[in-house]
Amino acid sequence: MPKLTQLDHAHVWHPFTQMRDWLEREPIVIVSGKGAVLRDVHGKEYLDANSSIWTNLHGHRHPRINAAIIRQLKTISHSSALGLANEPASLLAARLTTIANPGSRQRKAADPNSPVPSAASRQRLQKVFFSDDGSTAMEVALKLAYEFTRRTRSASGAPAARRKLAPRFLSLEGAYHGDTVGAVSLGHMDLFHKAYGGLLFKSDKVMAPYCYRCPFNRAKPERADAREYRKCNWECVGLVEKKFRAQKKQGNPYAGFVFEPLMQGAAGMIPQPAGWLRRVTEIARSHGALLIADEVMTGFGRTSLVAADVRKLISKPARKSEPPHGGGYEGLFACHHESVHPDFLCLAKGLTGGYLPMAATLTTQKVFAAFLGEYQEFKTFFHGHSYTGNQLGAAAALASLDILQSAASLAARSALENTLATELTSLWSLPNVGDIRQVGLIAGVELVRNLRSREPFALRERAGIRVCEAMARHGVLTRPIGNVIVIMPPYCTTAKQARRMVGALRQAVEAVL
Ligand SMILES: *Cc1c(COP(=O)(O)O)cnc(C)c1O
Repeated sequence: MPKLTQLDHAHVWHPFTQMRDWLEREPIVIVSGKGAVLRDVHGKEYLDANSSIWTNLHGHRHPRINAAIIRQLKTISHSSALGLANEPASLLAARLTTIANPGSRQRKAADPNSPVPSAASRQRLQKVFFSDDGSTAMEVALKLAYEFTRRTRSASGAPAARRKLAPRFLSLEGAYHGDTVGAVSLGHMDLFHKAYGGLLFKSDKVMAPYCYRCPFNRAKPERADAREYRKCNWECVGLVEKKFRAQKKQGNPYAGFVFEPLMQGAAGMIPQPAGWLRRVTEIARSHGALLIADEVMTGFGRTSLVAADVRKLISKPARKSEPPHGGGYEGLFACHHESVHPDFLCLAKGLTGGYLPMAATLTTQKVFAAFLGEYQEFKTFFHGHSYTGNQLGAAAALASLDILQSAASLAARSALENTLATELTSLWSLPNVGDIRQVGLIAGVELVRNLRSREPFALRERAGIRVCEAMARHGVLTRPIGNVIVIMPPYCTTAKQARRMVGALRQAVEAVL
């Protein structure tokens, strides 16, 4: 056994891993990476088919991100955001608020600090709270929404009894928002709730639109994405409306609606049919709930659907007067595709291009204002992390955004999205493929025992795990979610590499099932 493996086995406790199984075999020890390729300690190469657990955007060892980090290293790596500002964090905050607000160039005219802000500027995401990872980005949104609701509800002169009611949150069935206690409380993964139930606060759940396994879908299974052939009456949207009404009746309307837009990740790559997000967020708004968008996975072009943008770009070359970046191309966030304007936008995984742990929670002037006051009123937001606003992370993020907003990246993403779609179609010849769900550059392939009945493999059969192990033998790395195989390639993945990723999946399913 290589020395590195011995050290790992002796001391490292791996996340979400049954360590008894882990200790029984030699792990893949990664020593380097370039583009979409990872290389292990024996020199064997693998394709990084899940972008290193959904974080990497442009590939490993990208020259521009490397250069940006090195440039930053030569000045300073970290100074505290407690009481101090710094250059890359300020630049990044400004940049994030620009790309997070579609059409923001037109709207910039409105002064966000004017005493009577317009409706549009009230909805603008213009404040950024930095933290370290997706879980903390969600904790920040949760705490802010909780405290904002308590303050605004009591200020609005609601009866004292009502003031005492704790703000309550609604999220989606199967939701995953991270592993810290607040984030787990917002999620609805039974396994985690069983383990930590006593530590968690109560939040409510409502049906997520899982078309393939929806009890309201009357369509027989077809060899297509279940969203396309579903037969239903949008009962899932009706249930959301019902939930909001019932909660209002209890005199404590939901403070916030928490959702992953367009596709729920860890729940099993569950995509939403077009129009669902728009409808449910309108319902939530009409009931006065804050919209908390978890774009930790979906952010930064993952849900691309960029074809329209690319066409625009190709037919109308950028005018000289246009800034090199900043609001030019929309659709970097999933919310944009359904014109949803959340009150909180939580970002992490892809923020630094998959280089360094950094996260951001964006919110509005309206939320920010609820925390302003005289020092002794103690309206301060009492929250922060040691590495908040880290310079190296911010420098990497700025470089990653430069790449992301370049015409070359846009074109590459569009091409890769199409290649992936074409390649995935070939999987329909396999009898164990029940549903293929693609949203931009995220794909989930659900394996089933029986296509006609949609009968799943029992979890203890480890069908997904065995398929991924076989894929690794074919030189393609990814992790399953139960019976769902995830393909989420870095944006630099070539057509040939994408073909190999899907090809390995096909061969693995044939061999294992
Ligand atoms: C990964 C993930 C999180 C948690 O992020 P961490 O960086 O692992 O803490 C939260 N929400 C979504 C949607 C995620 O995919």
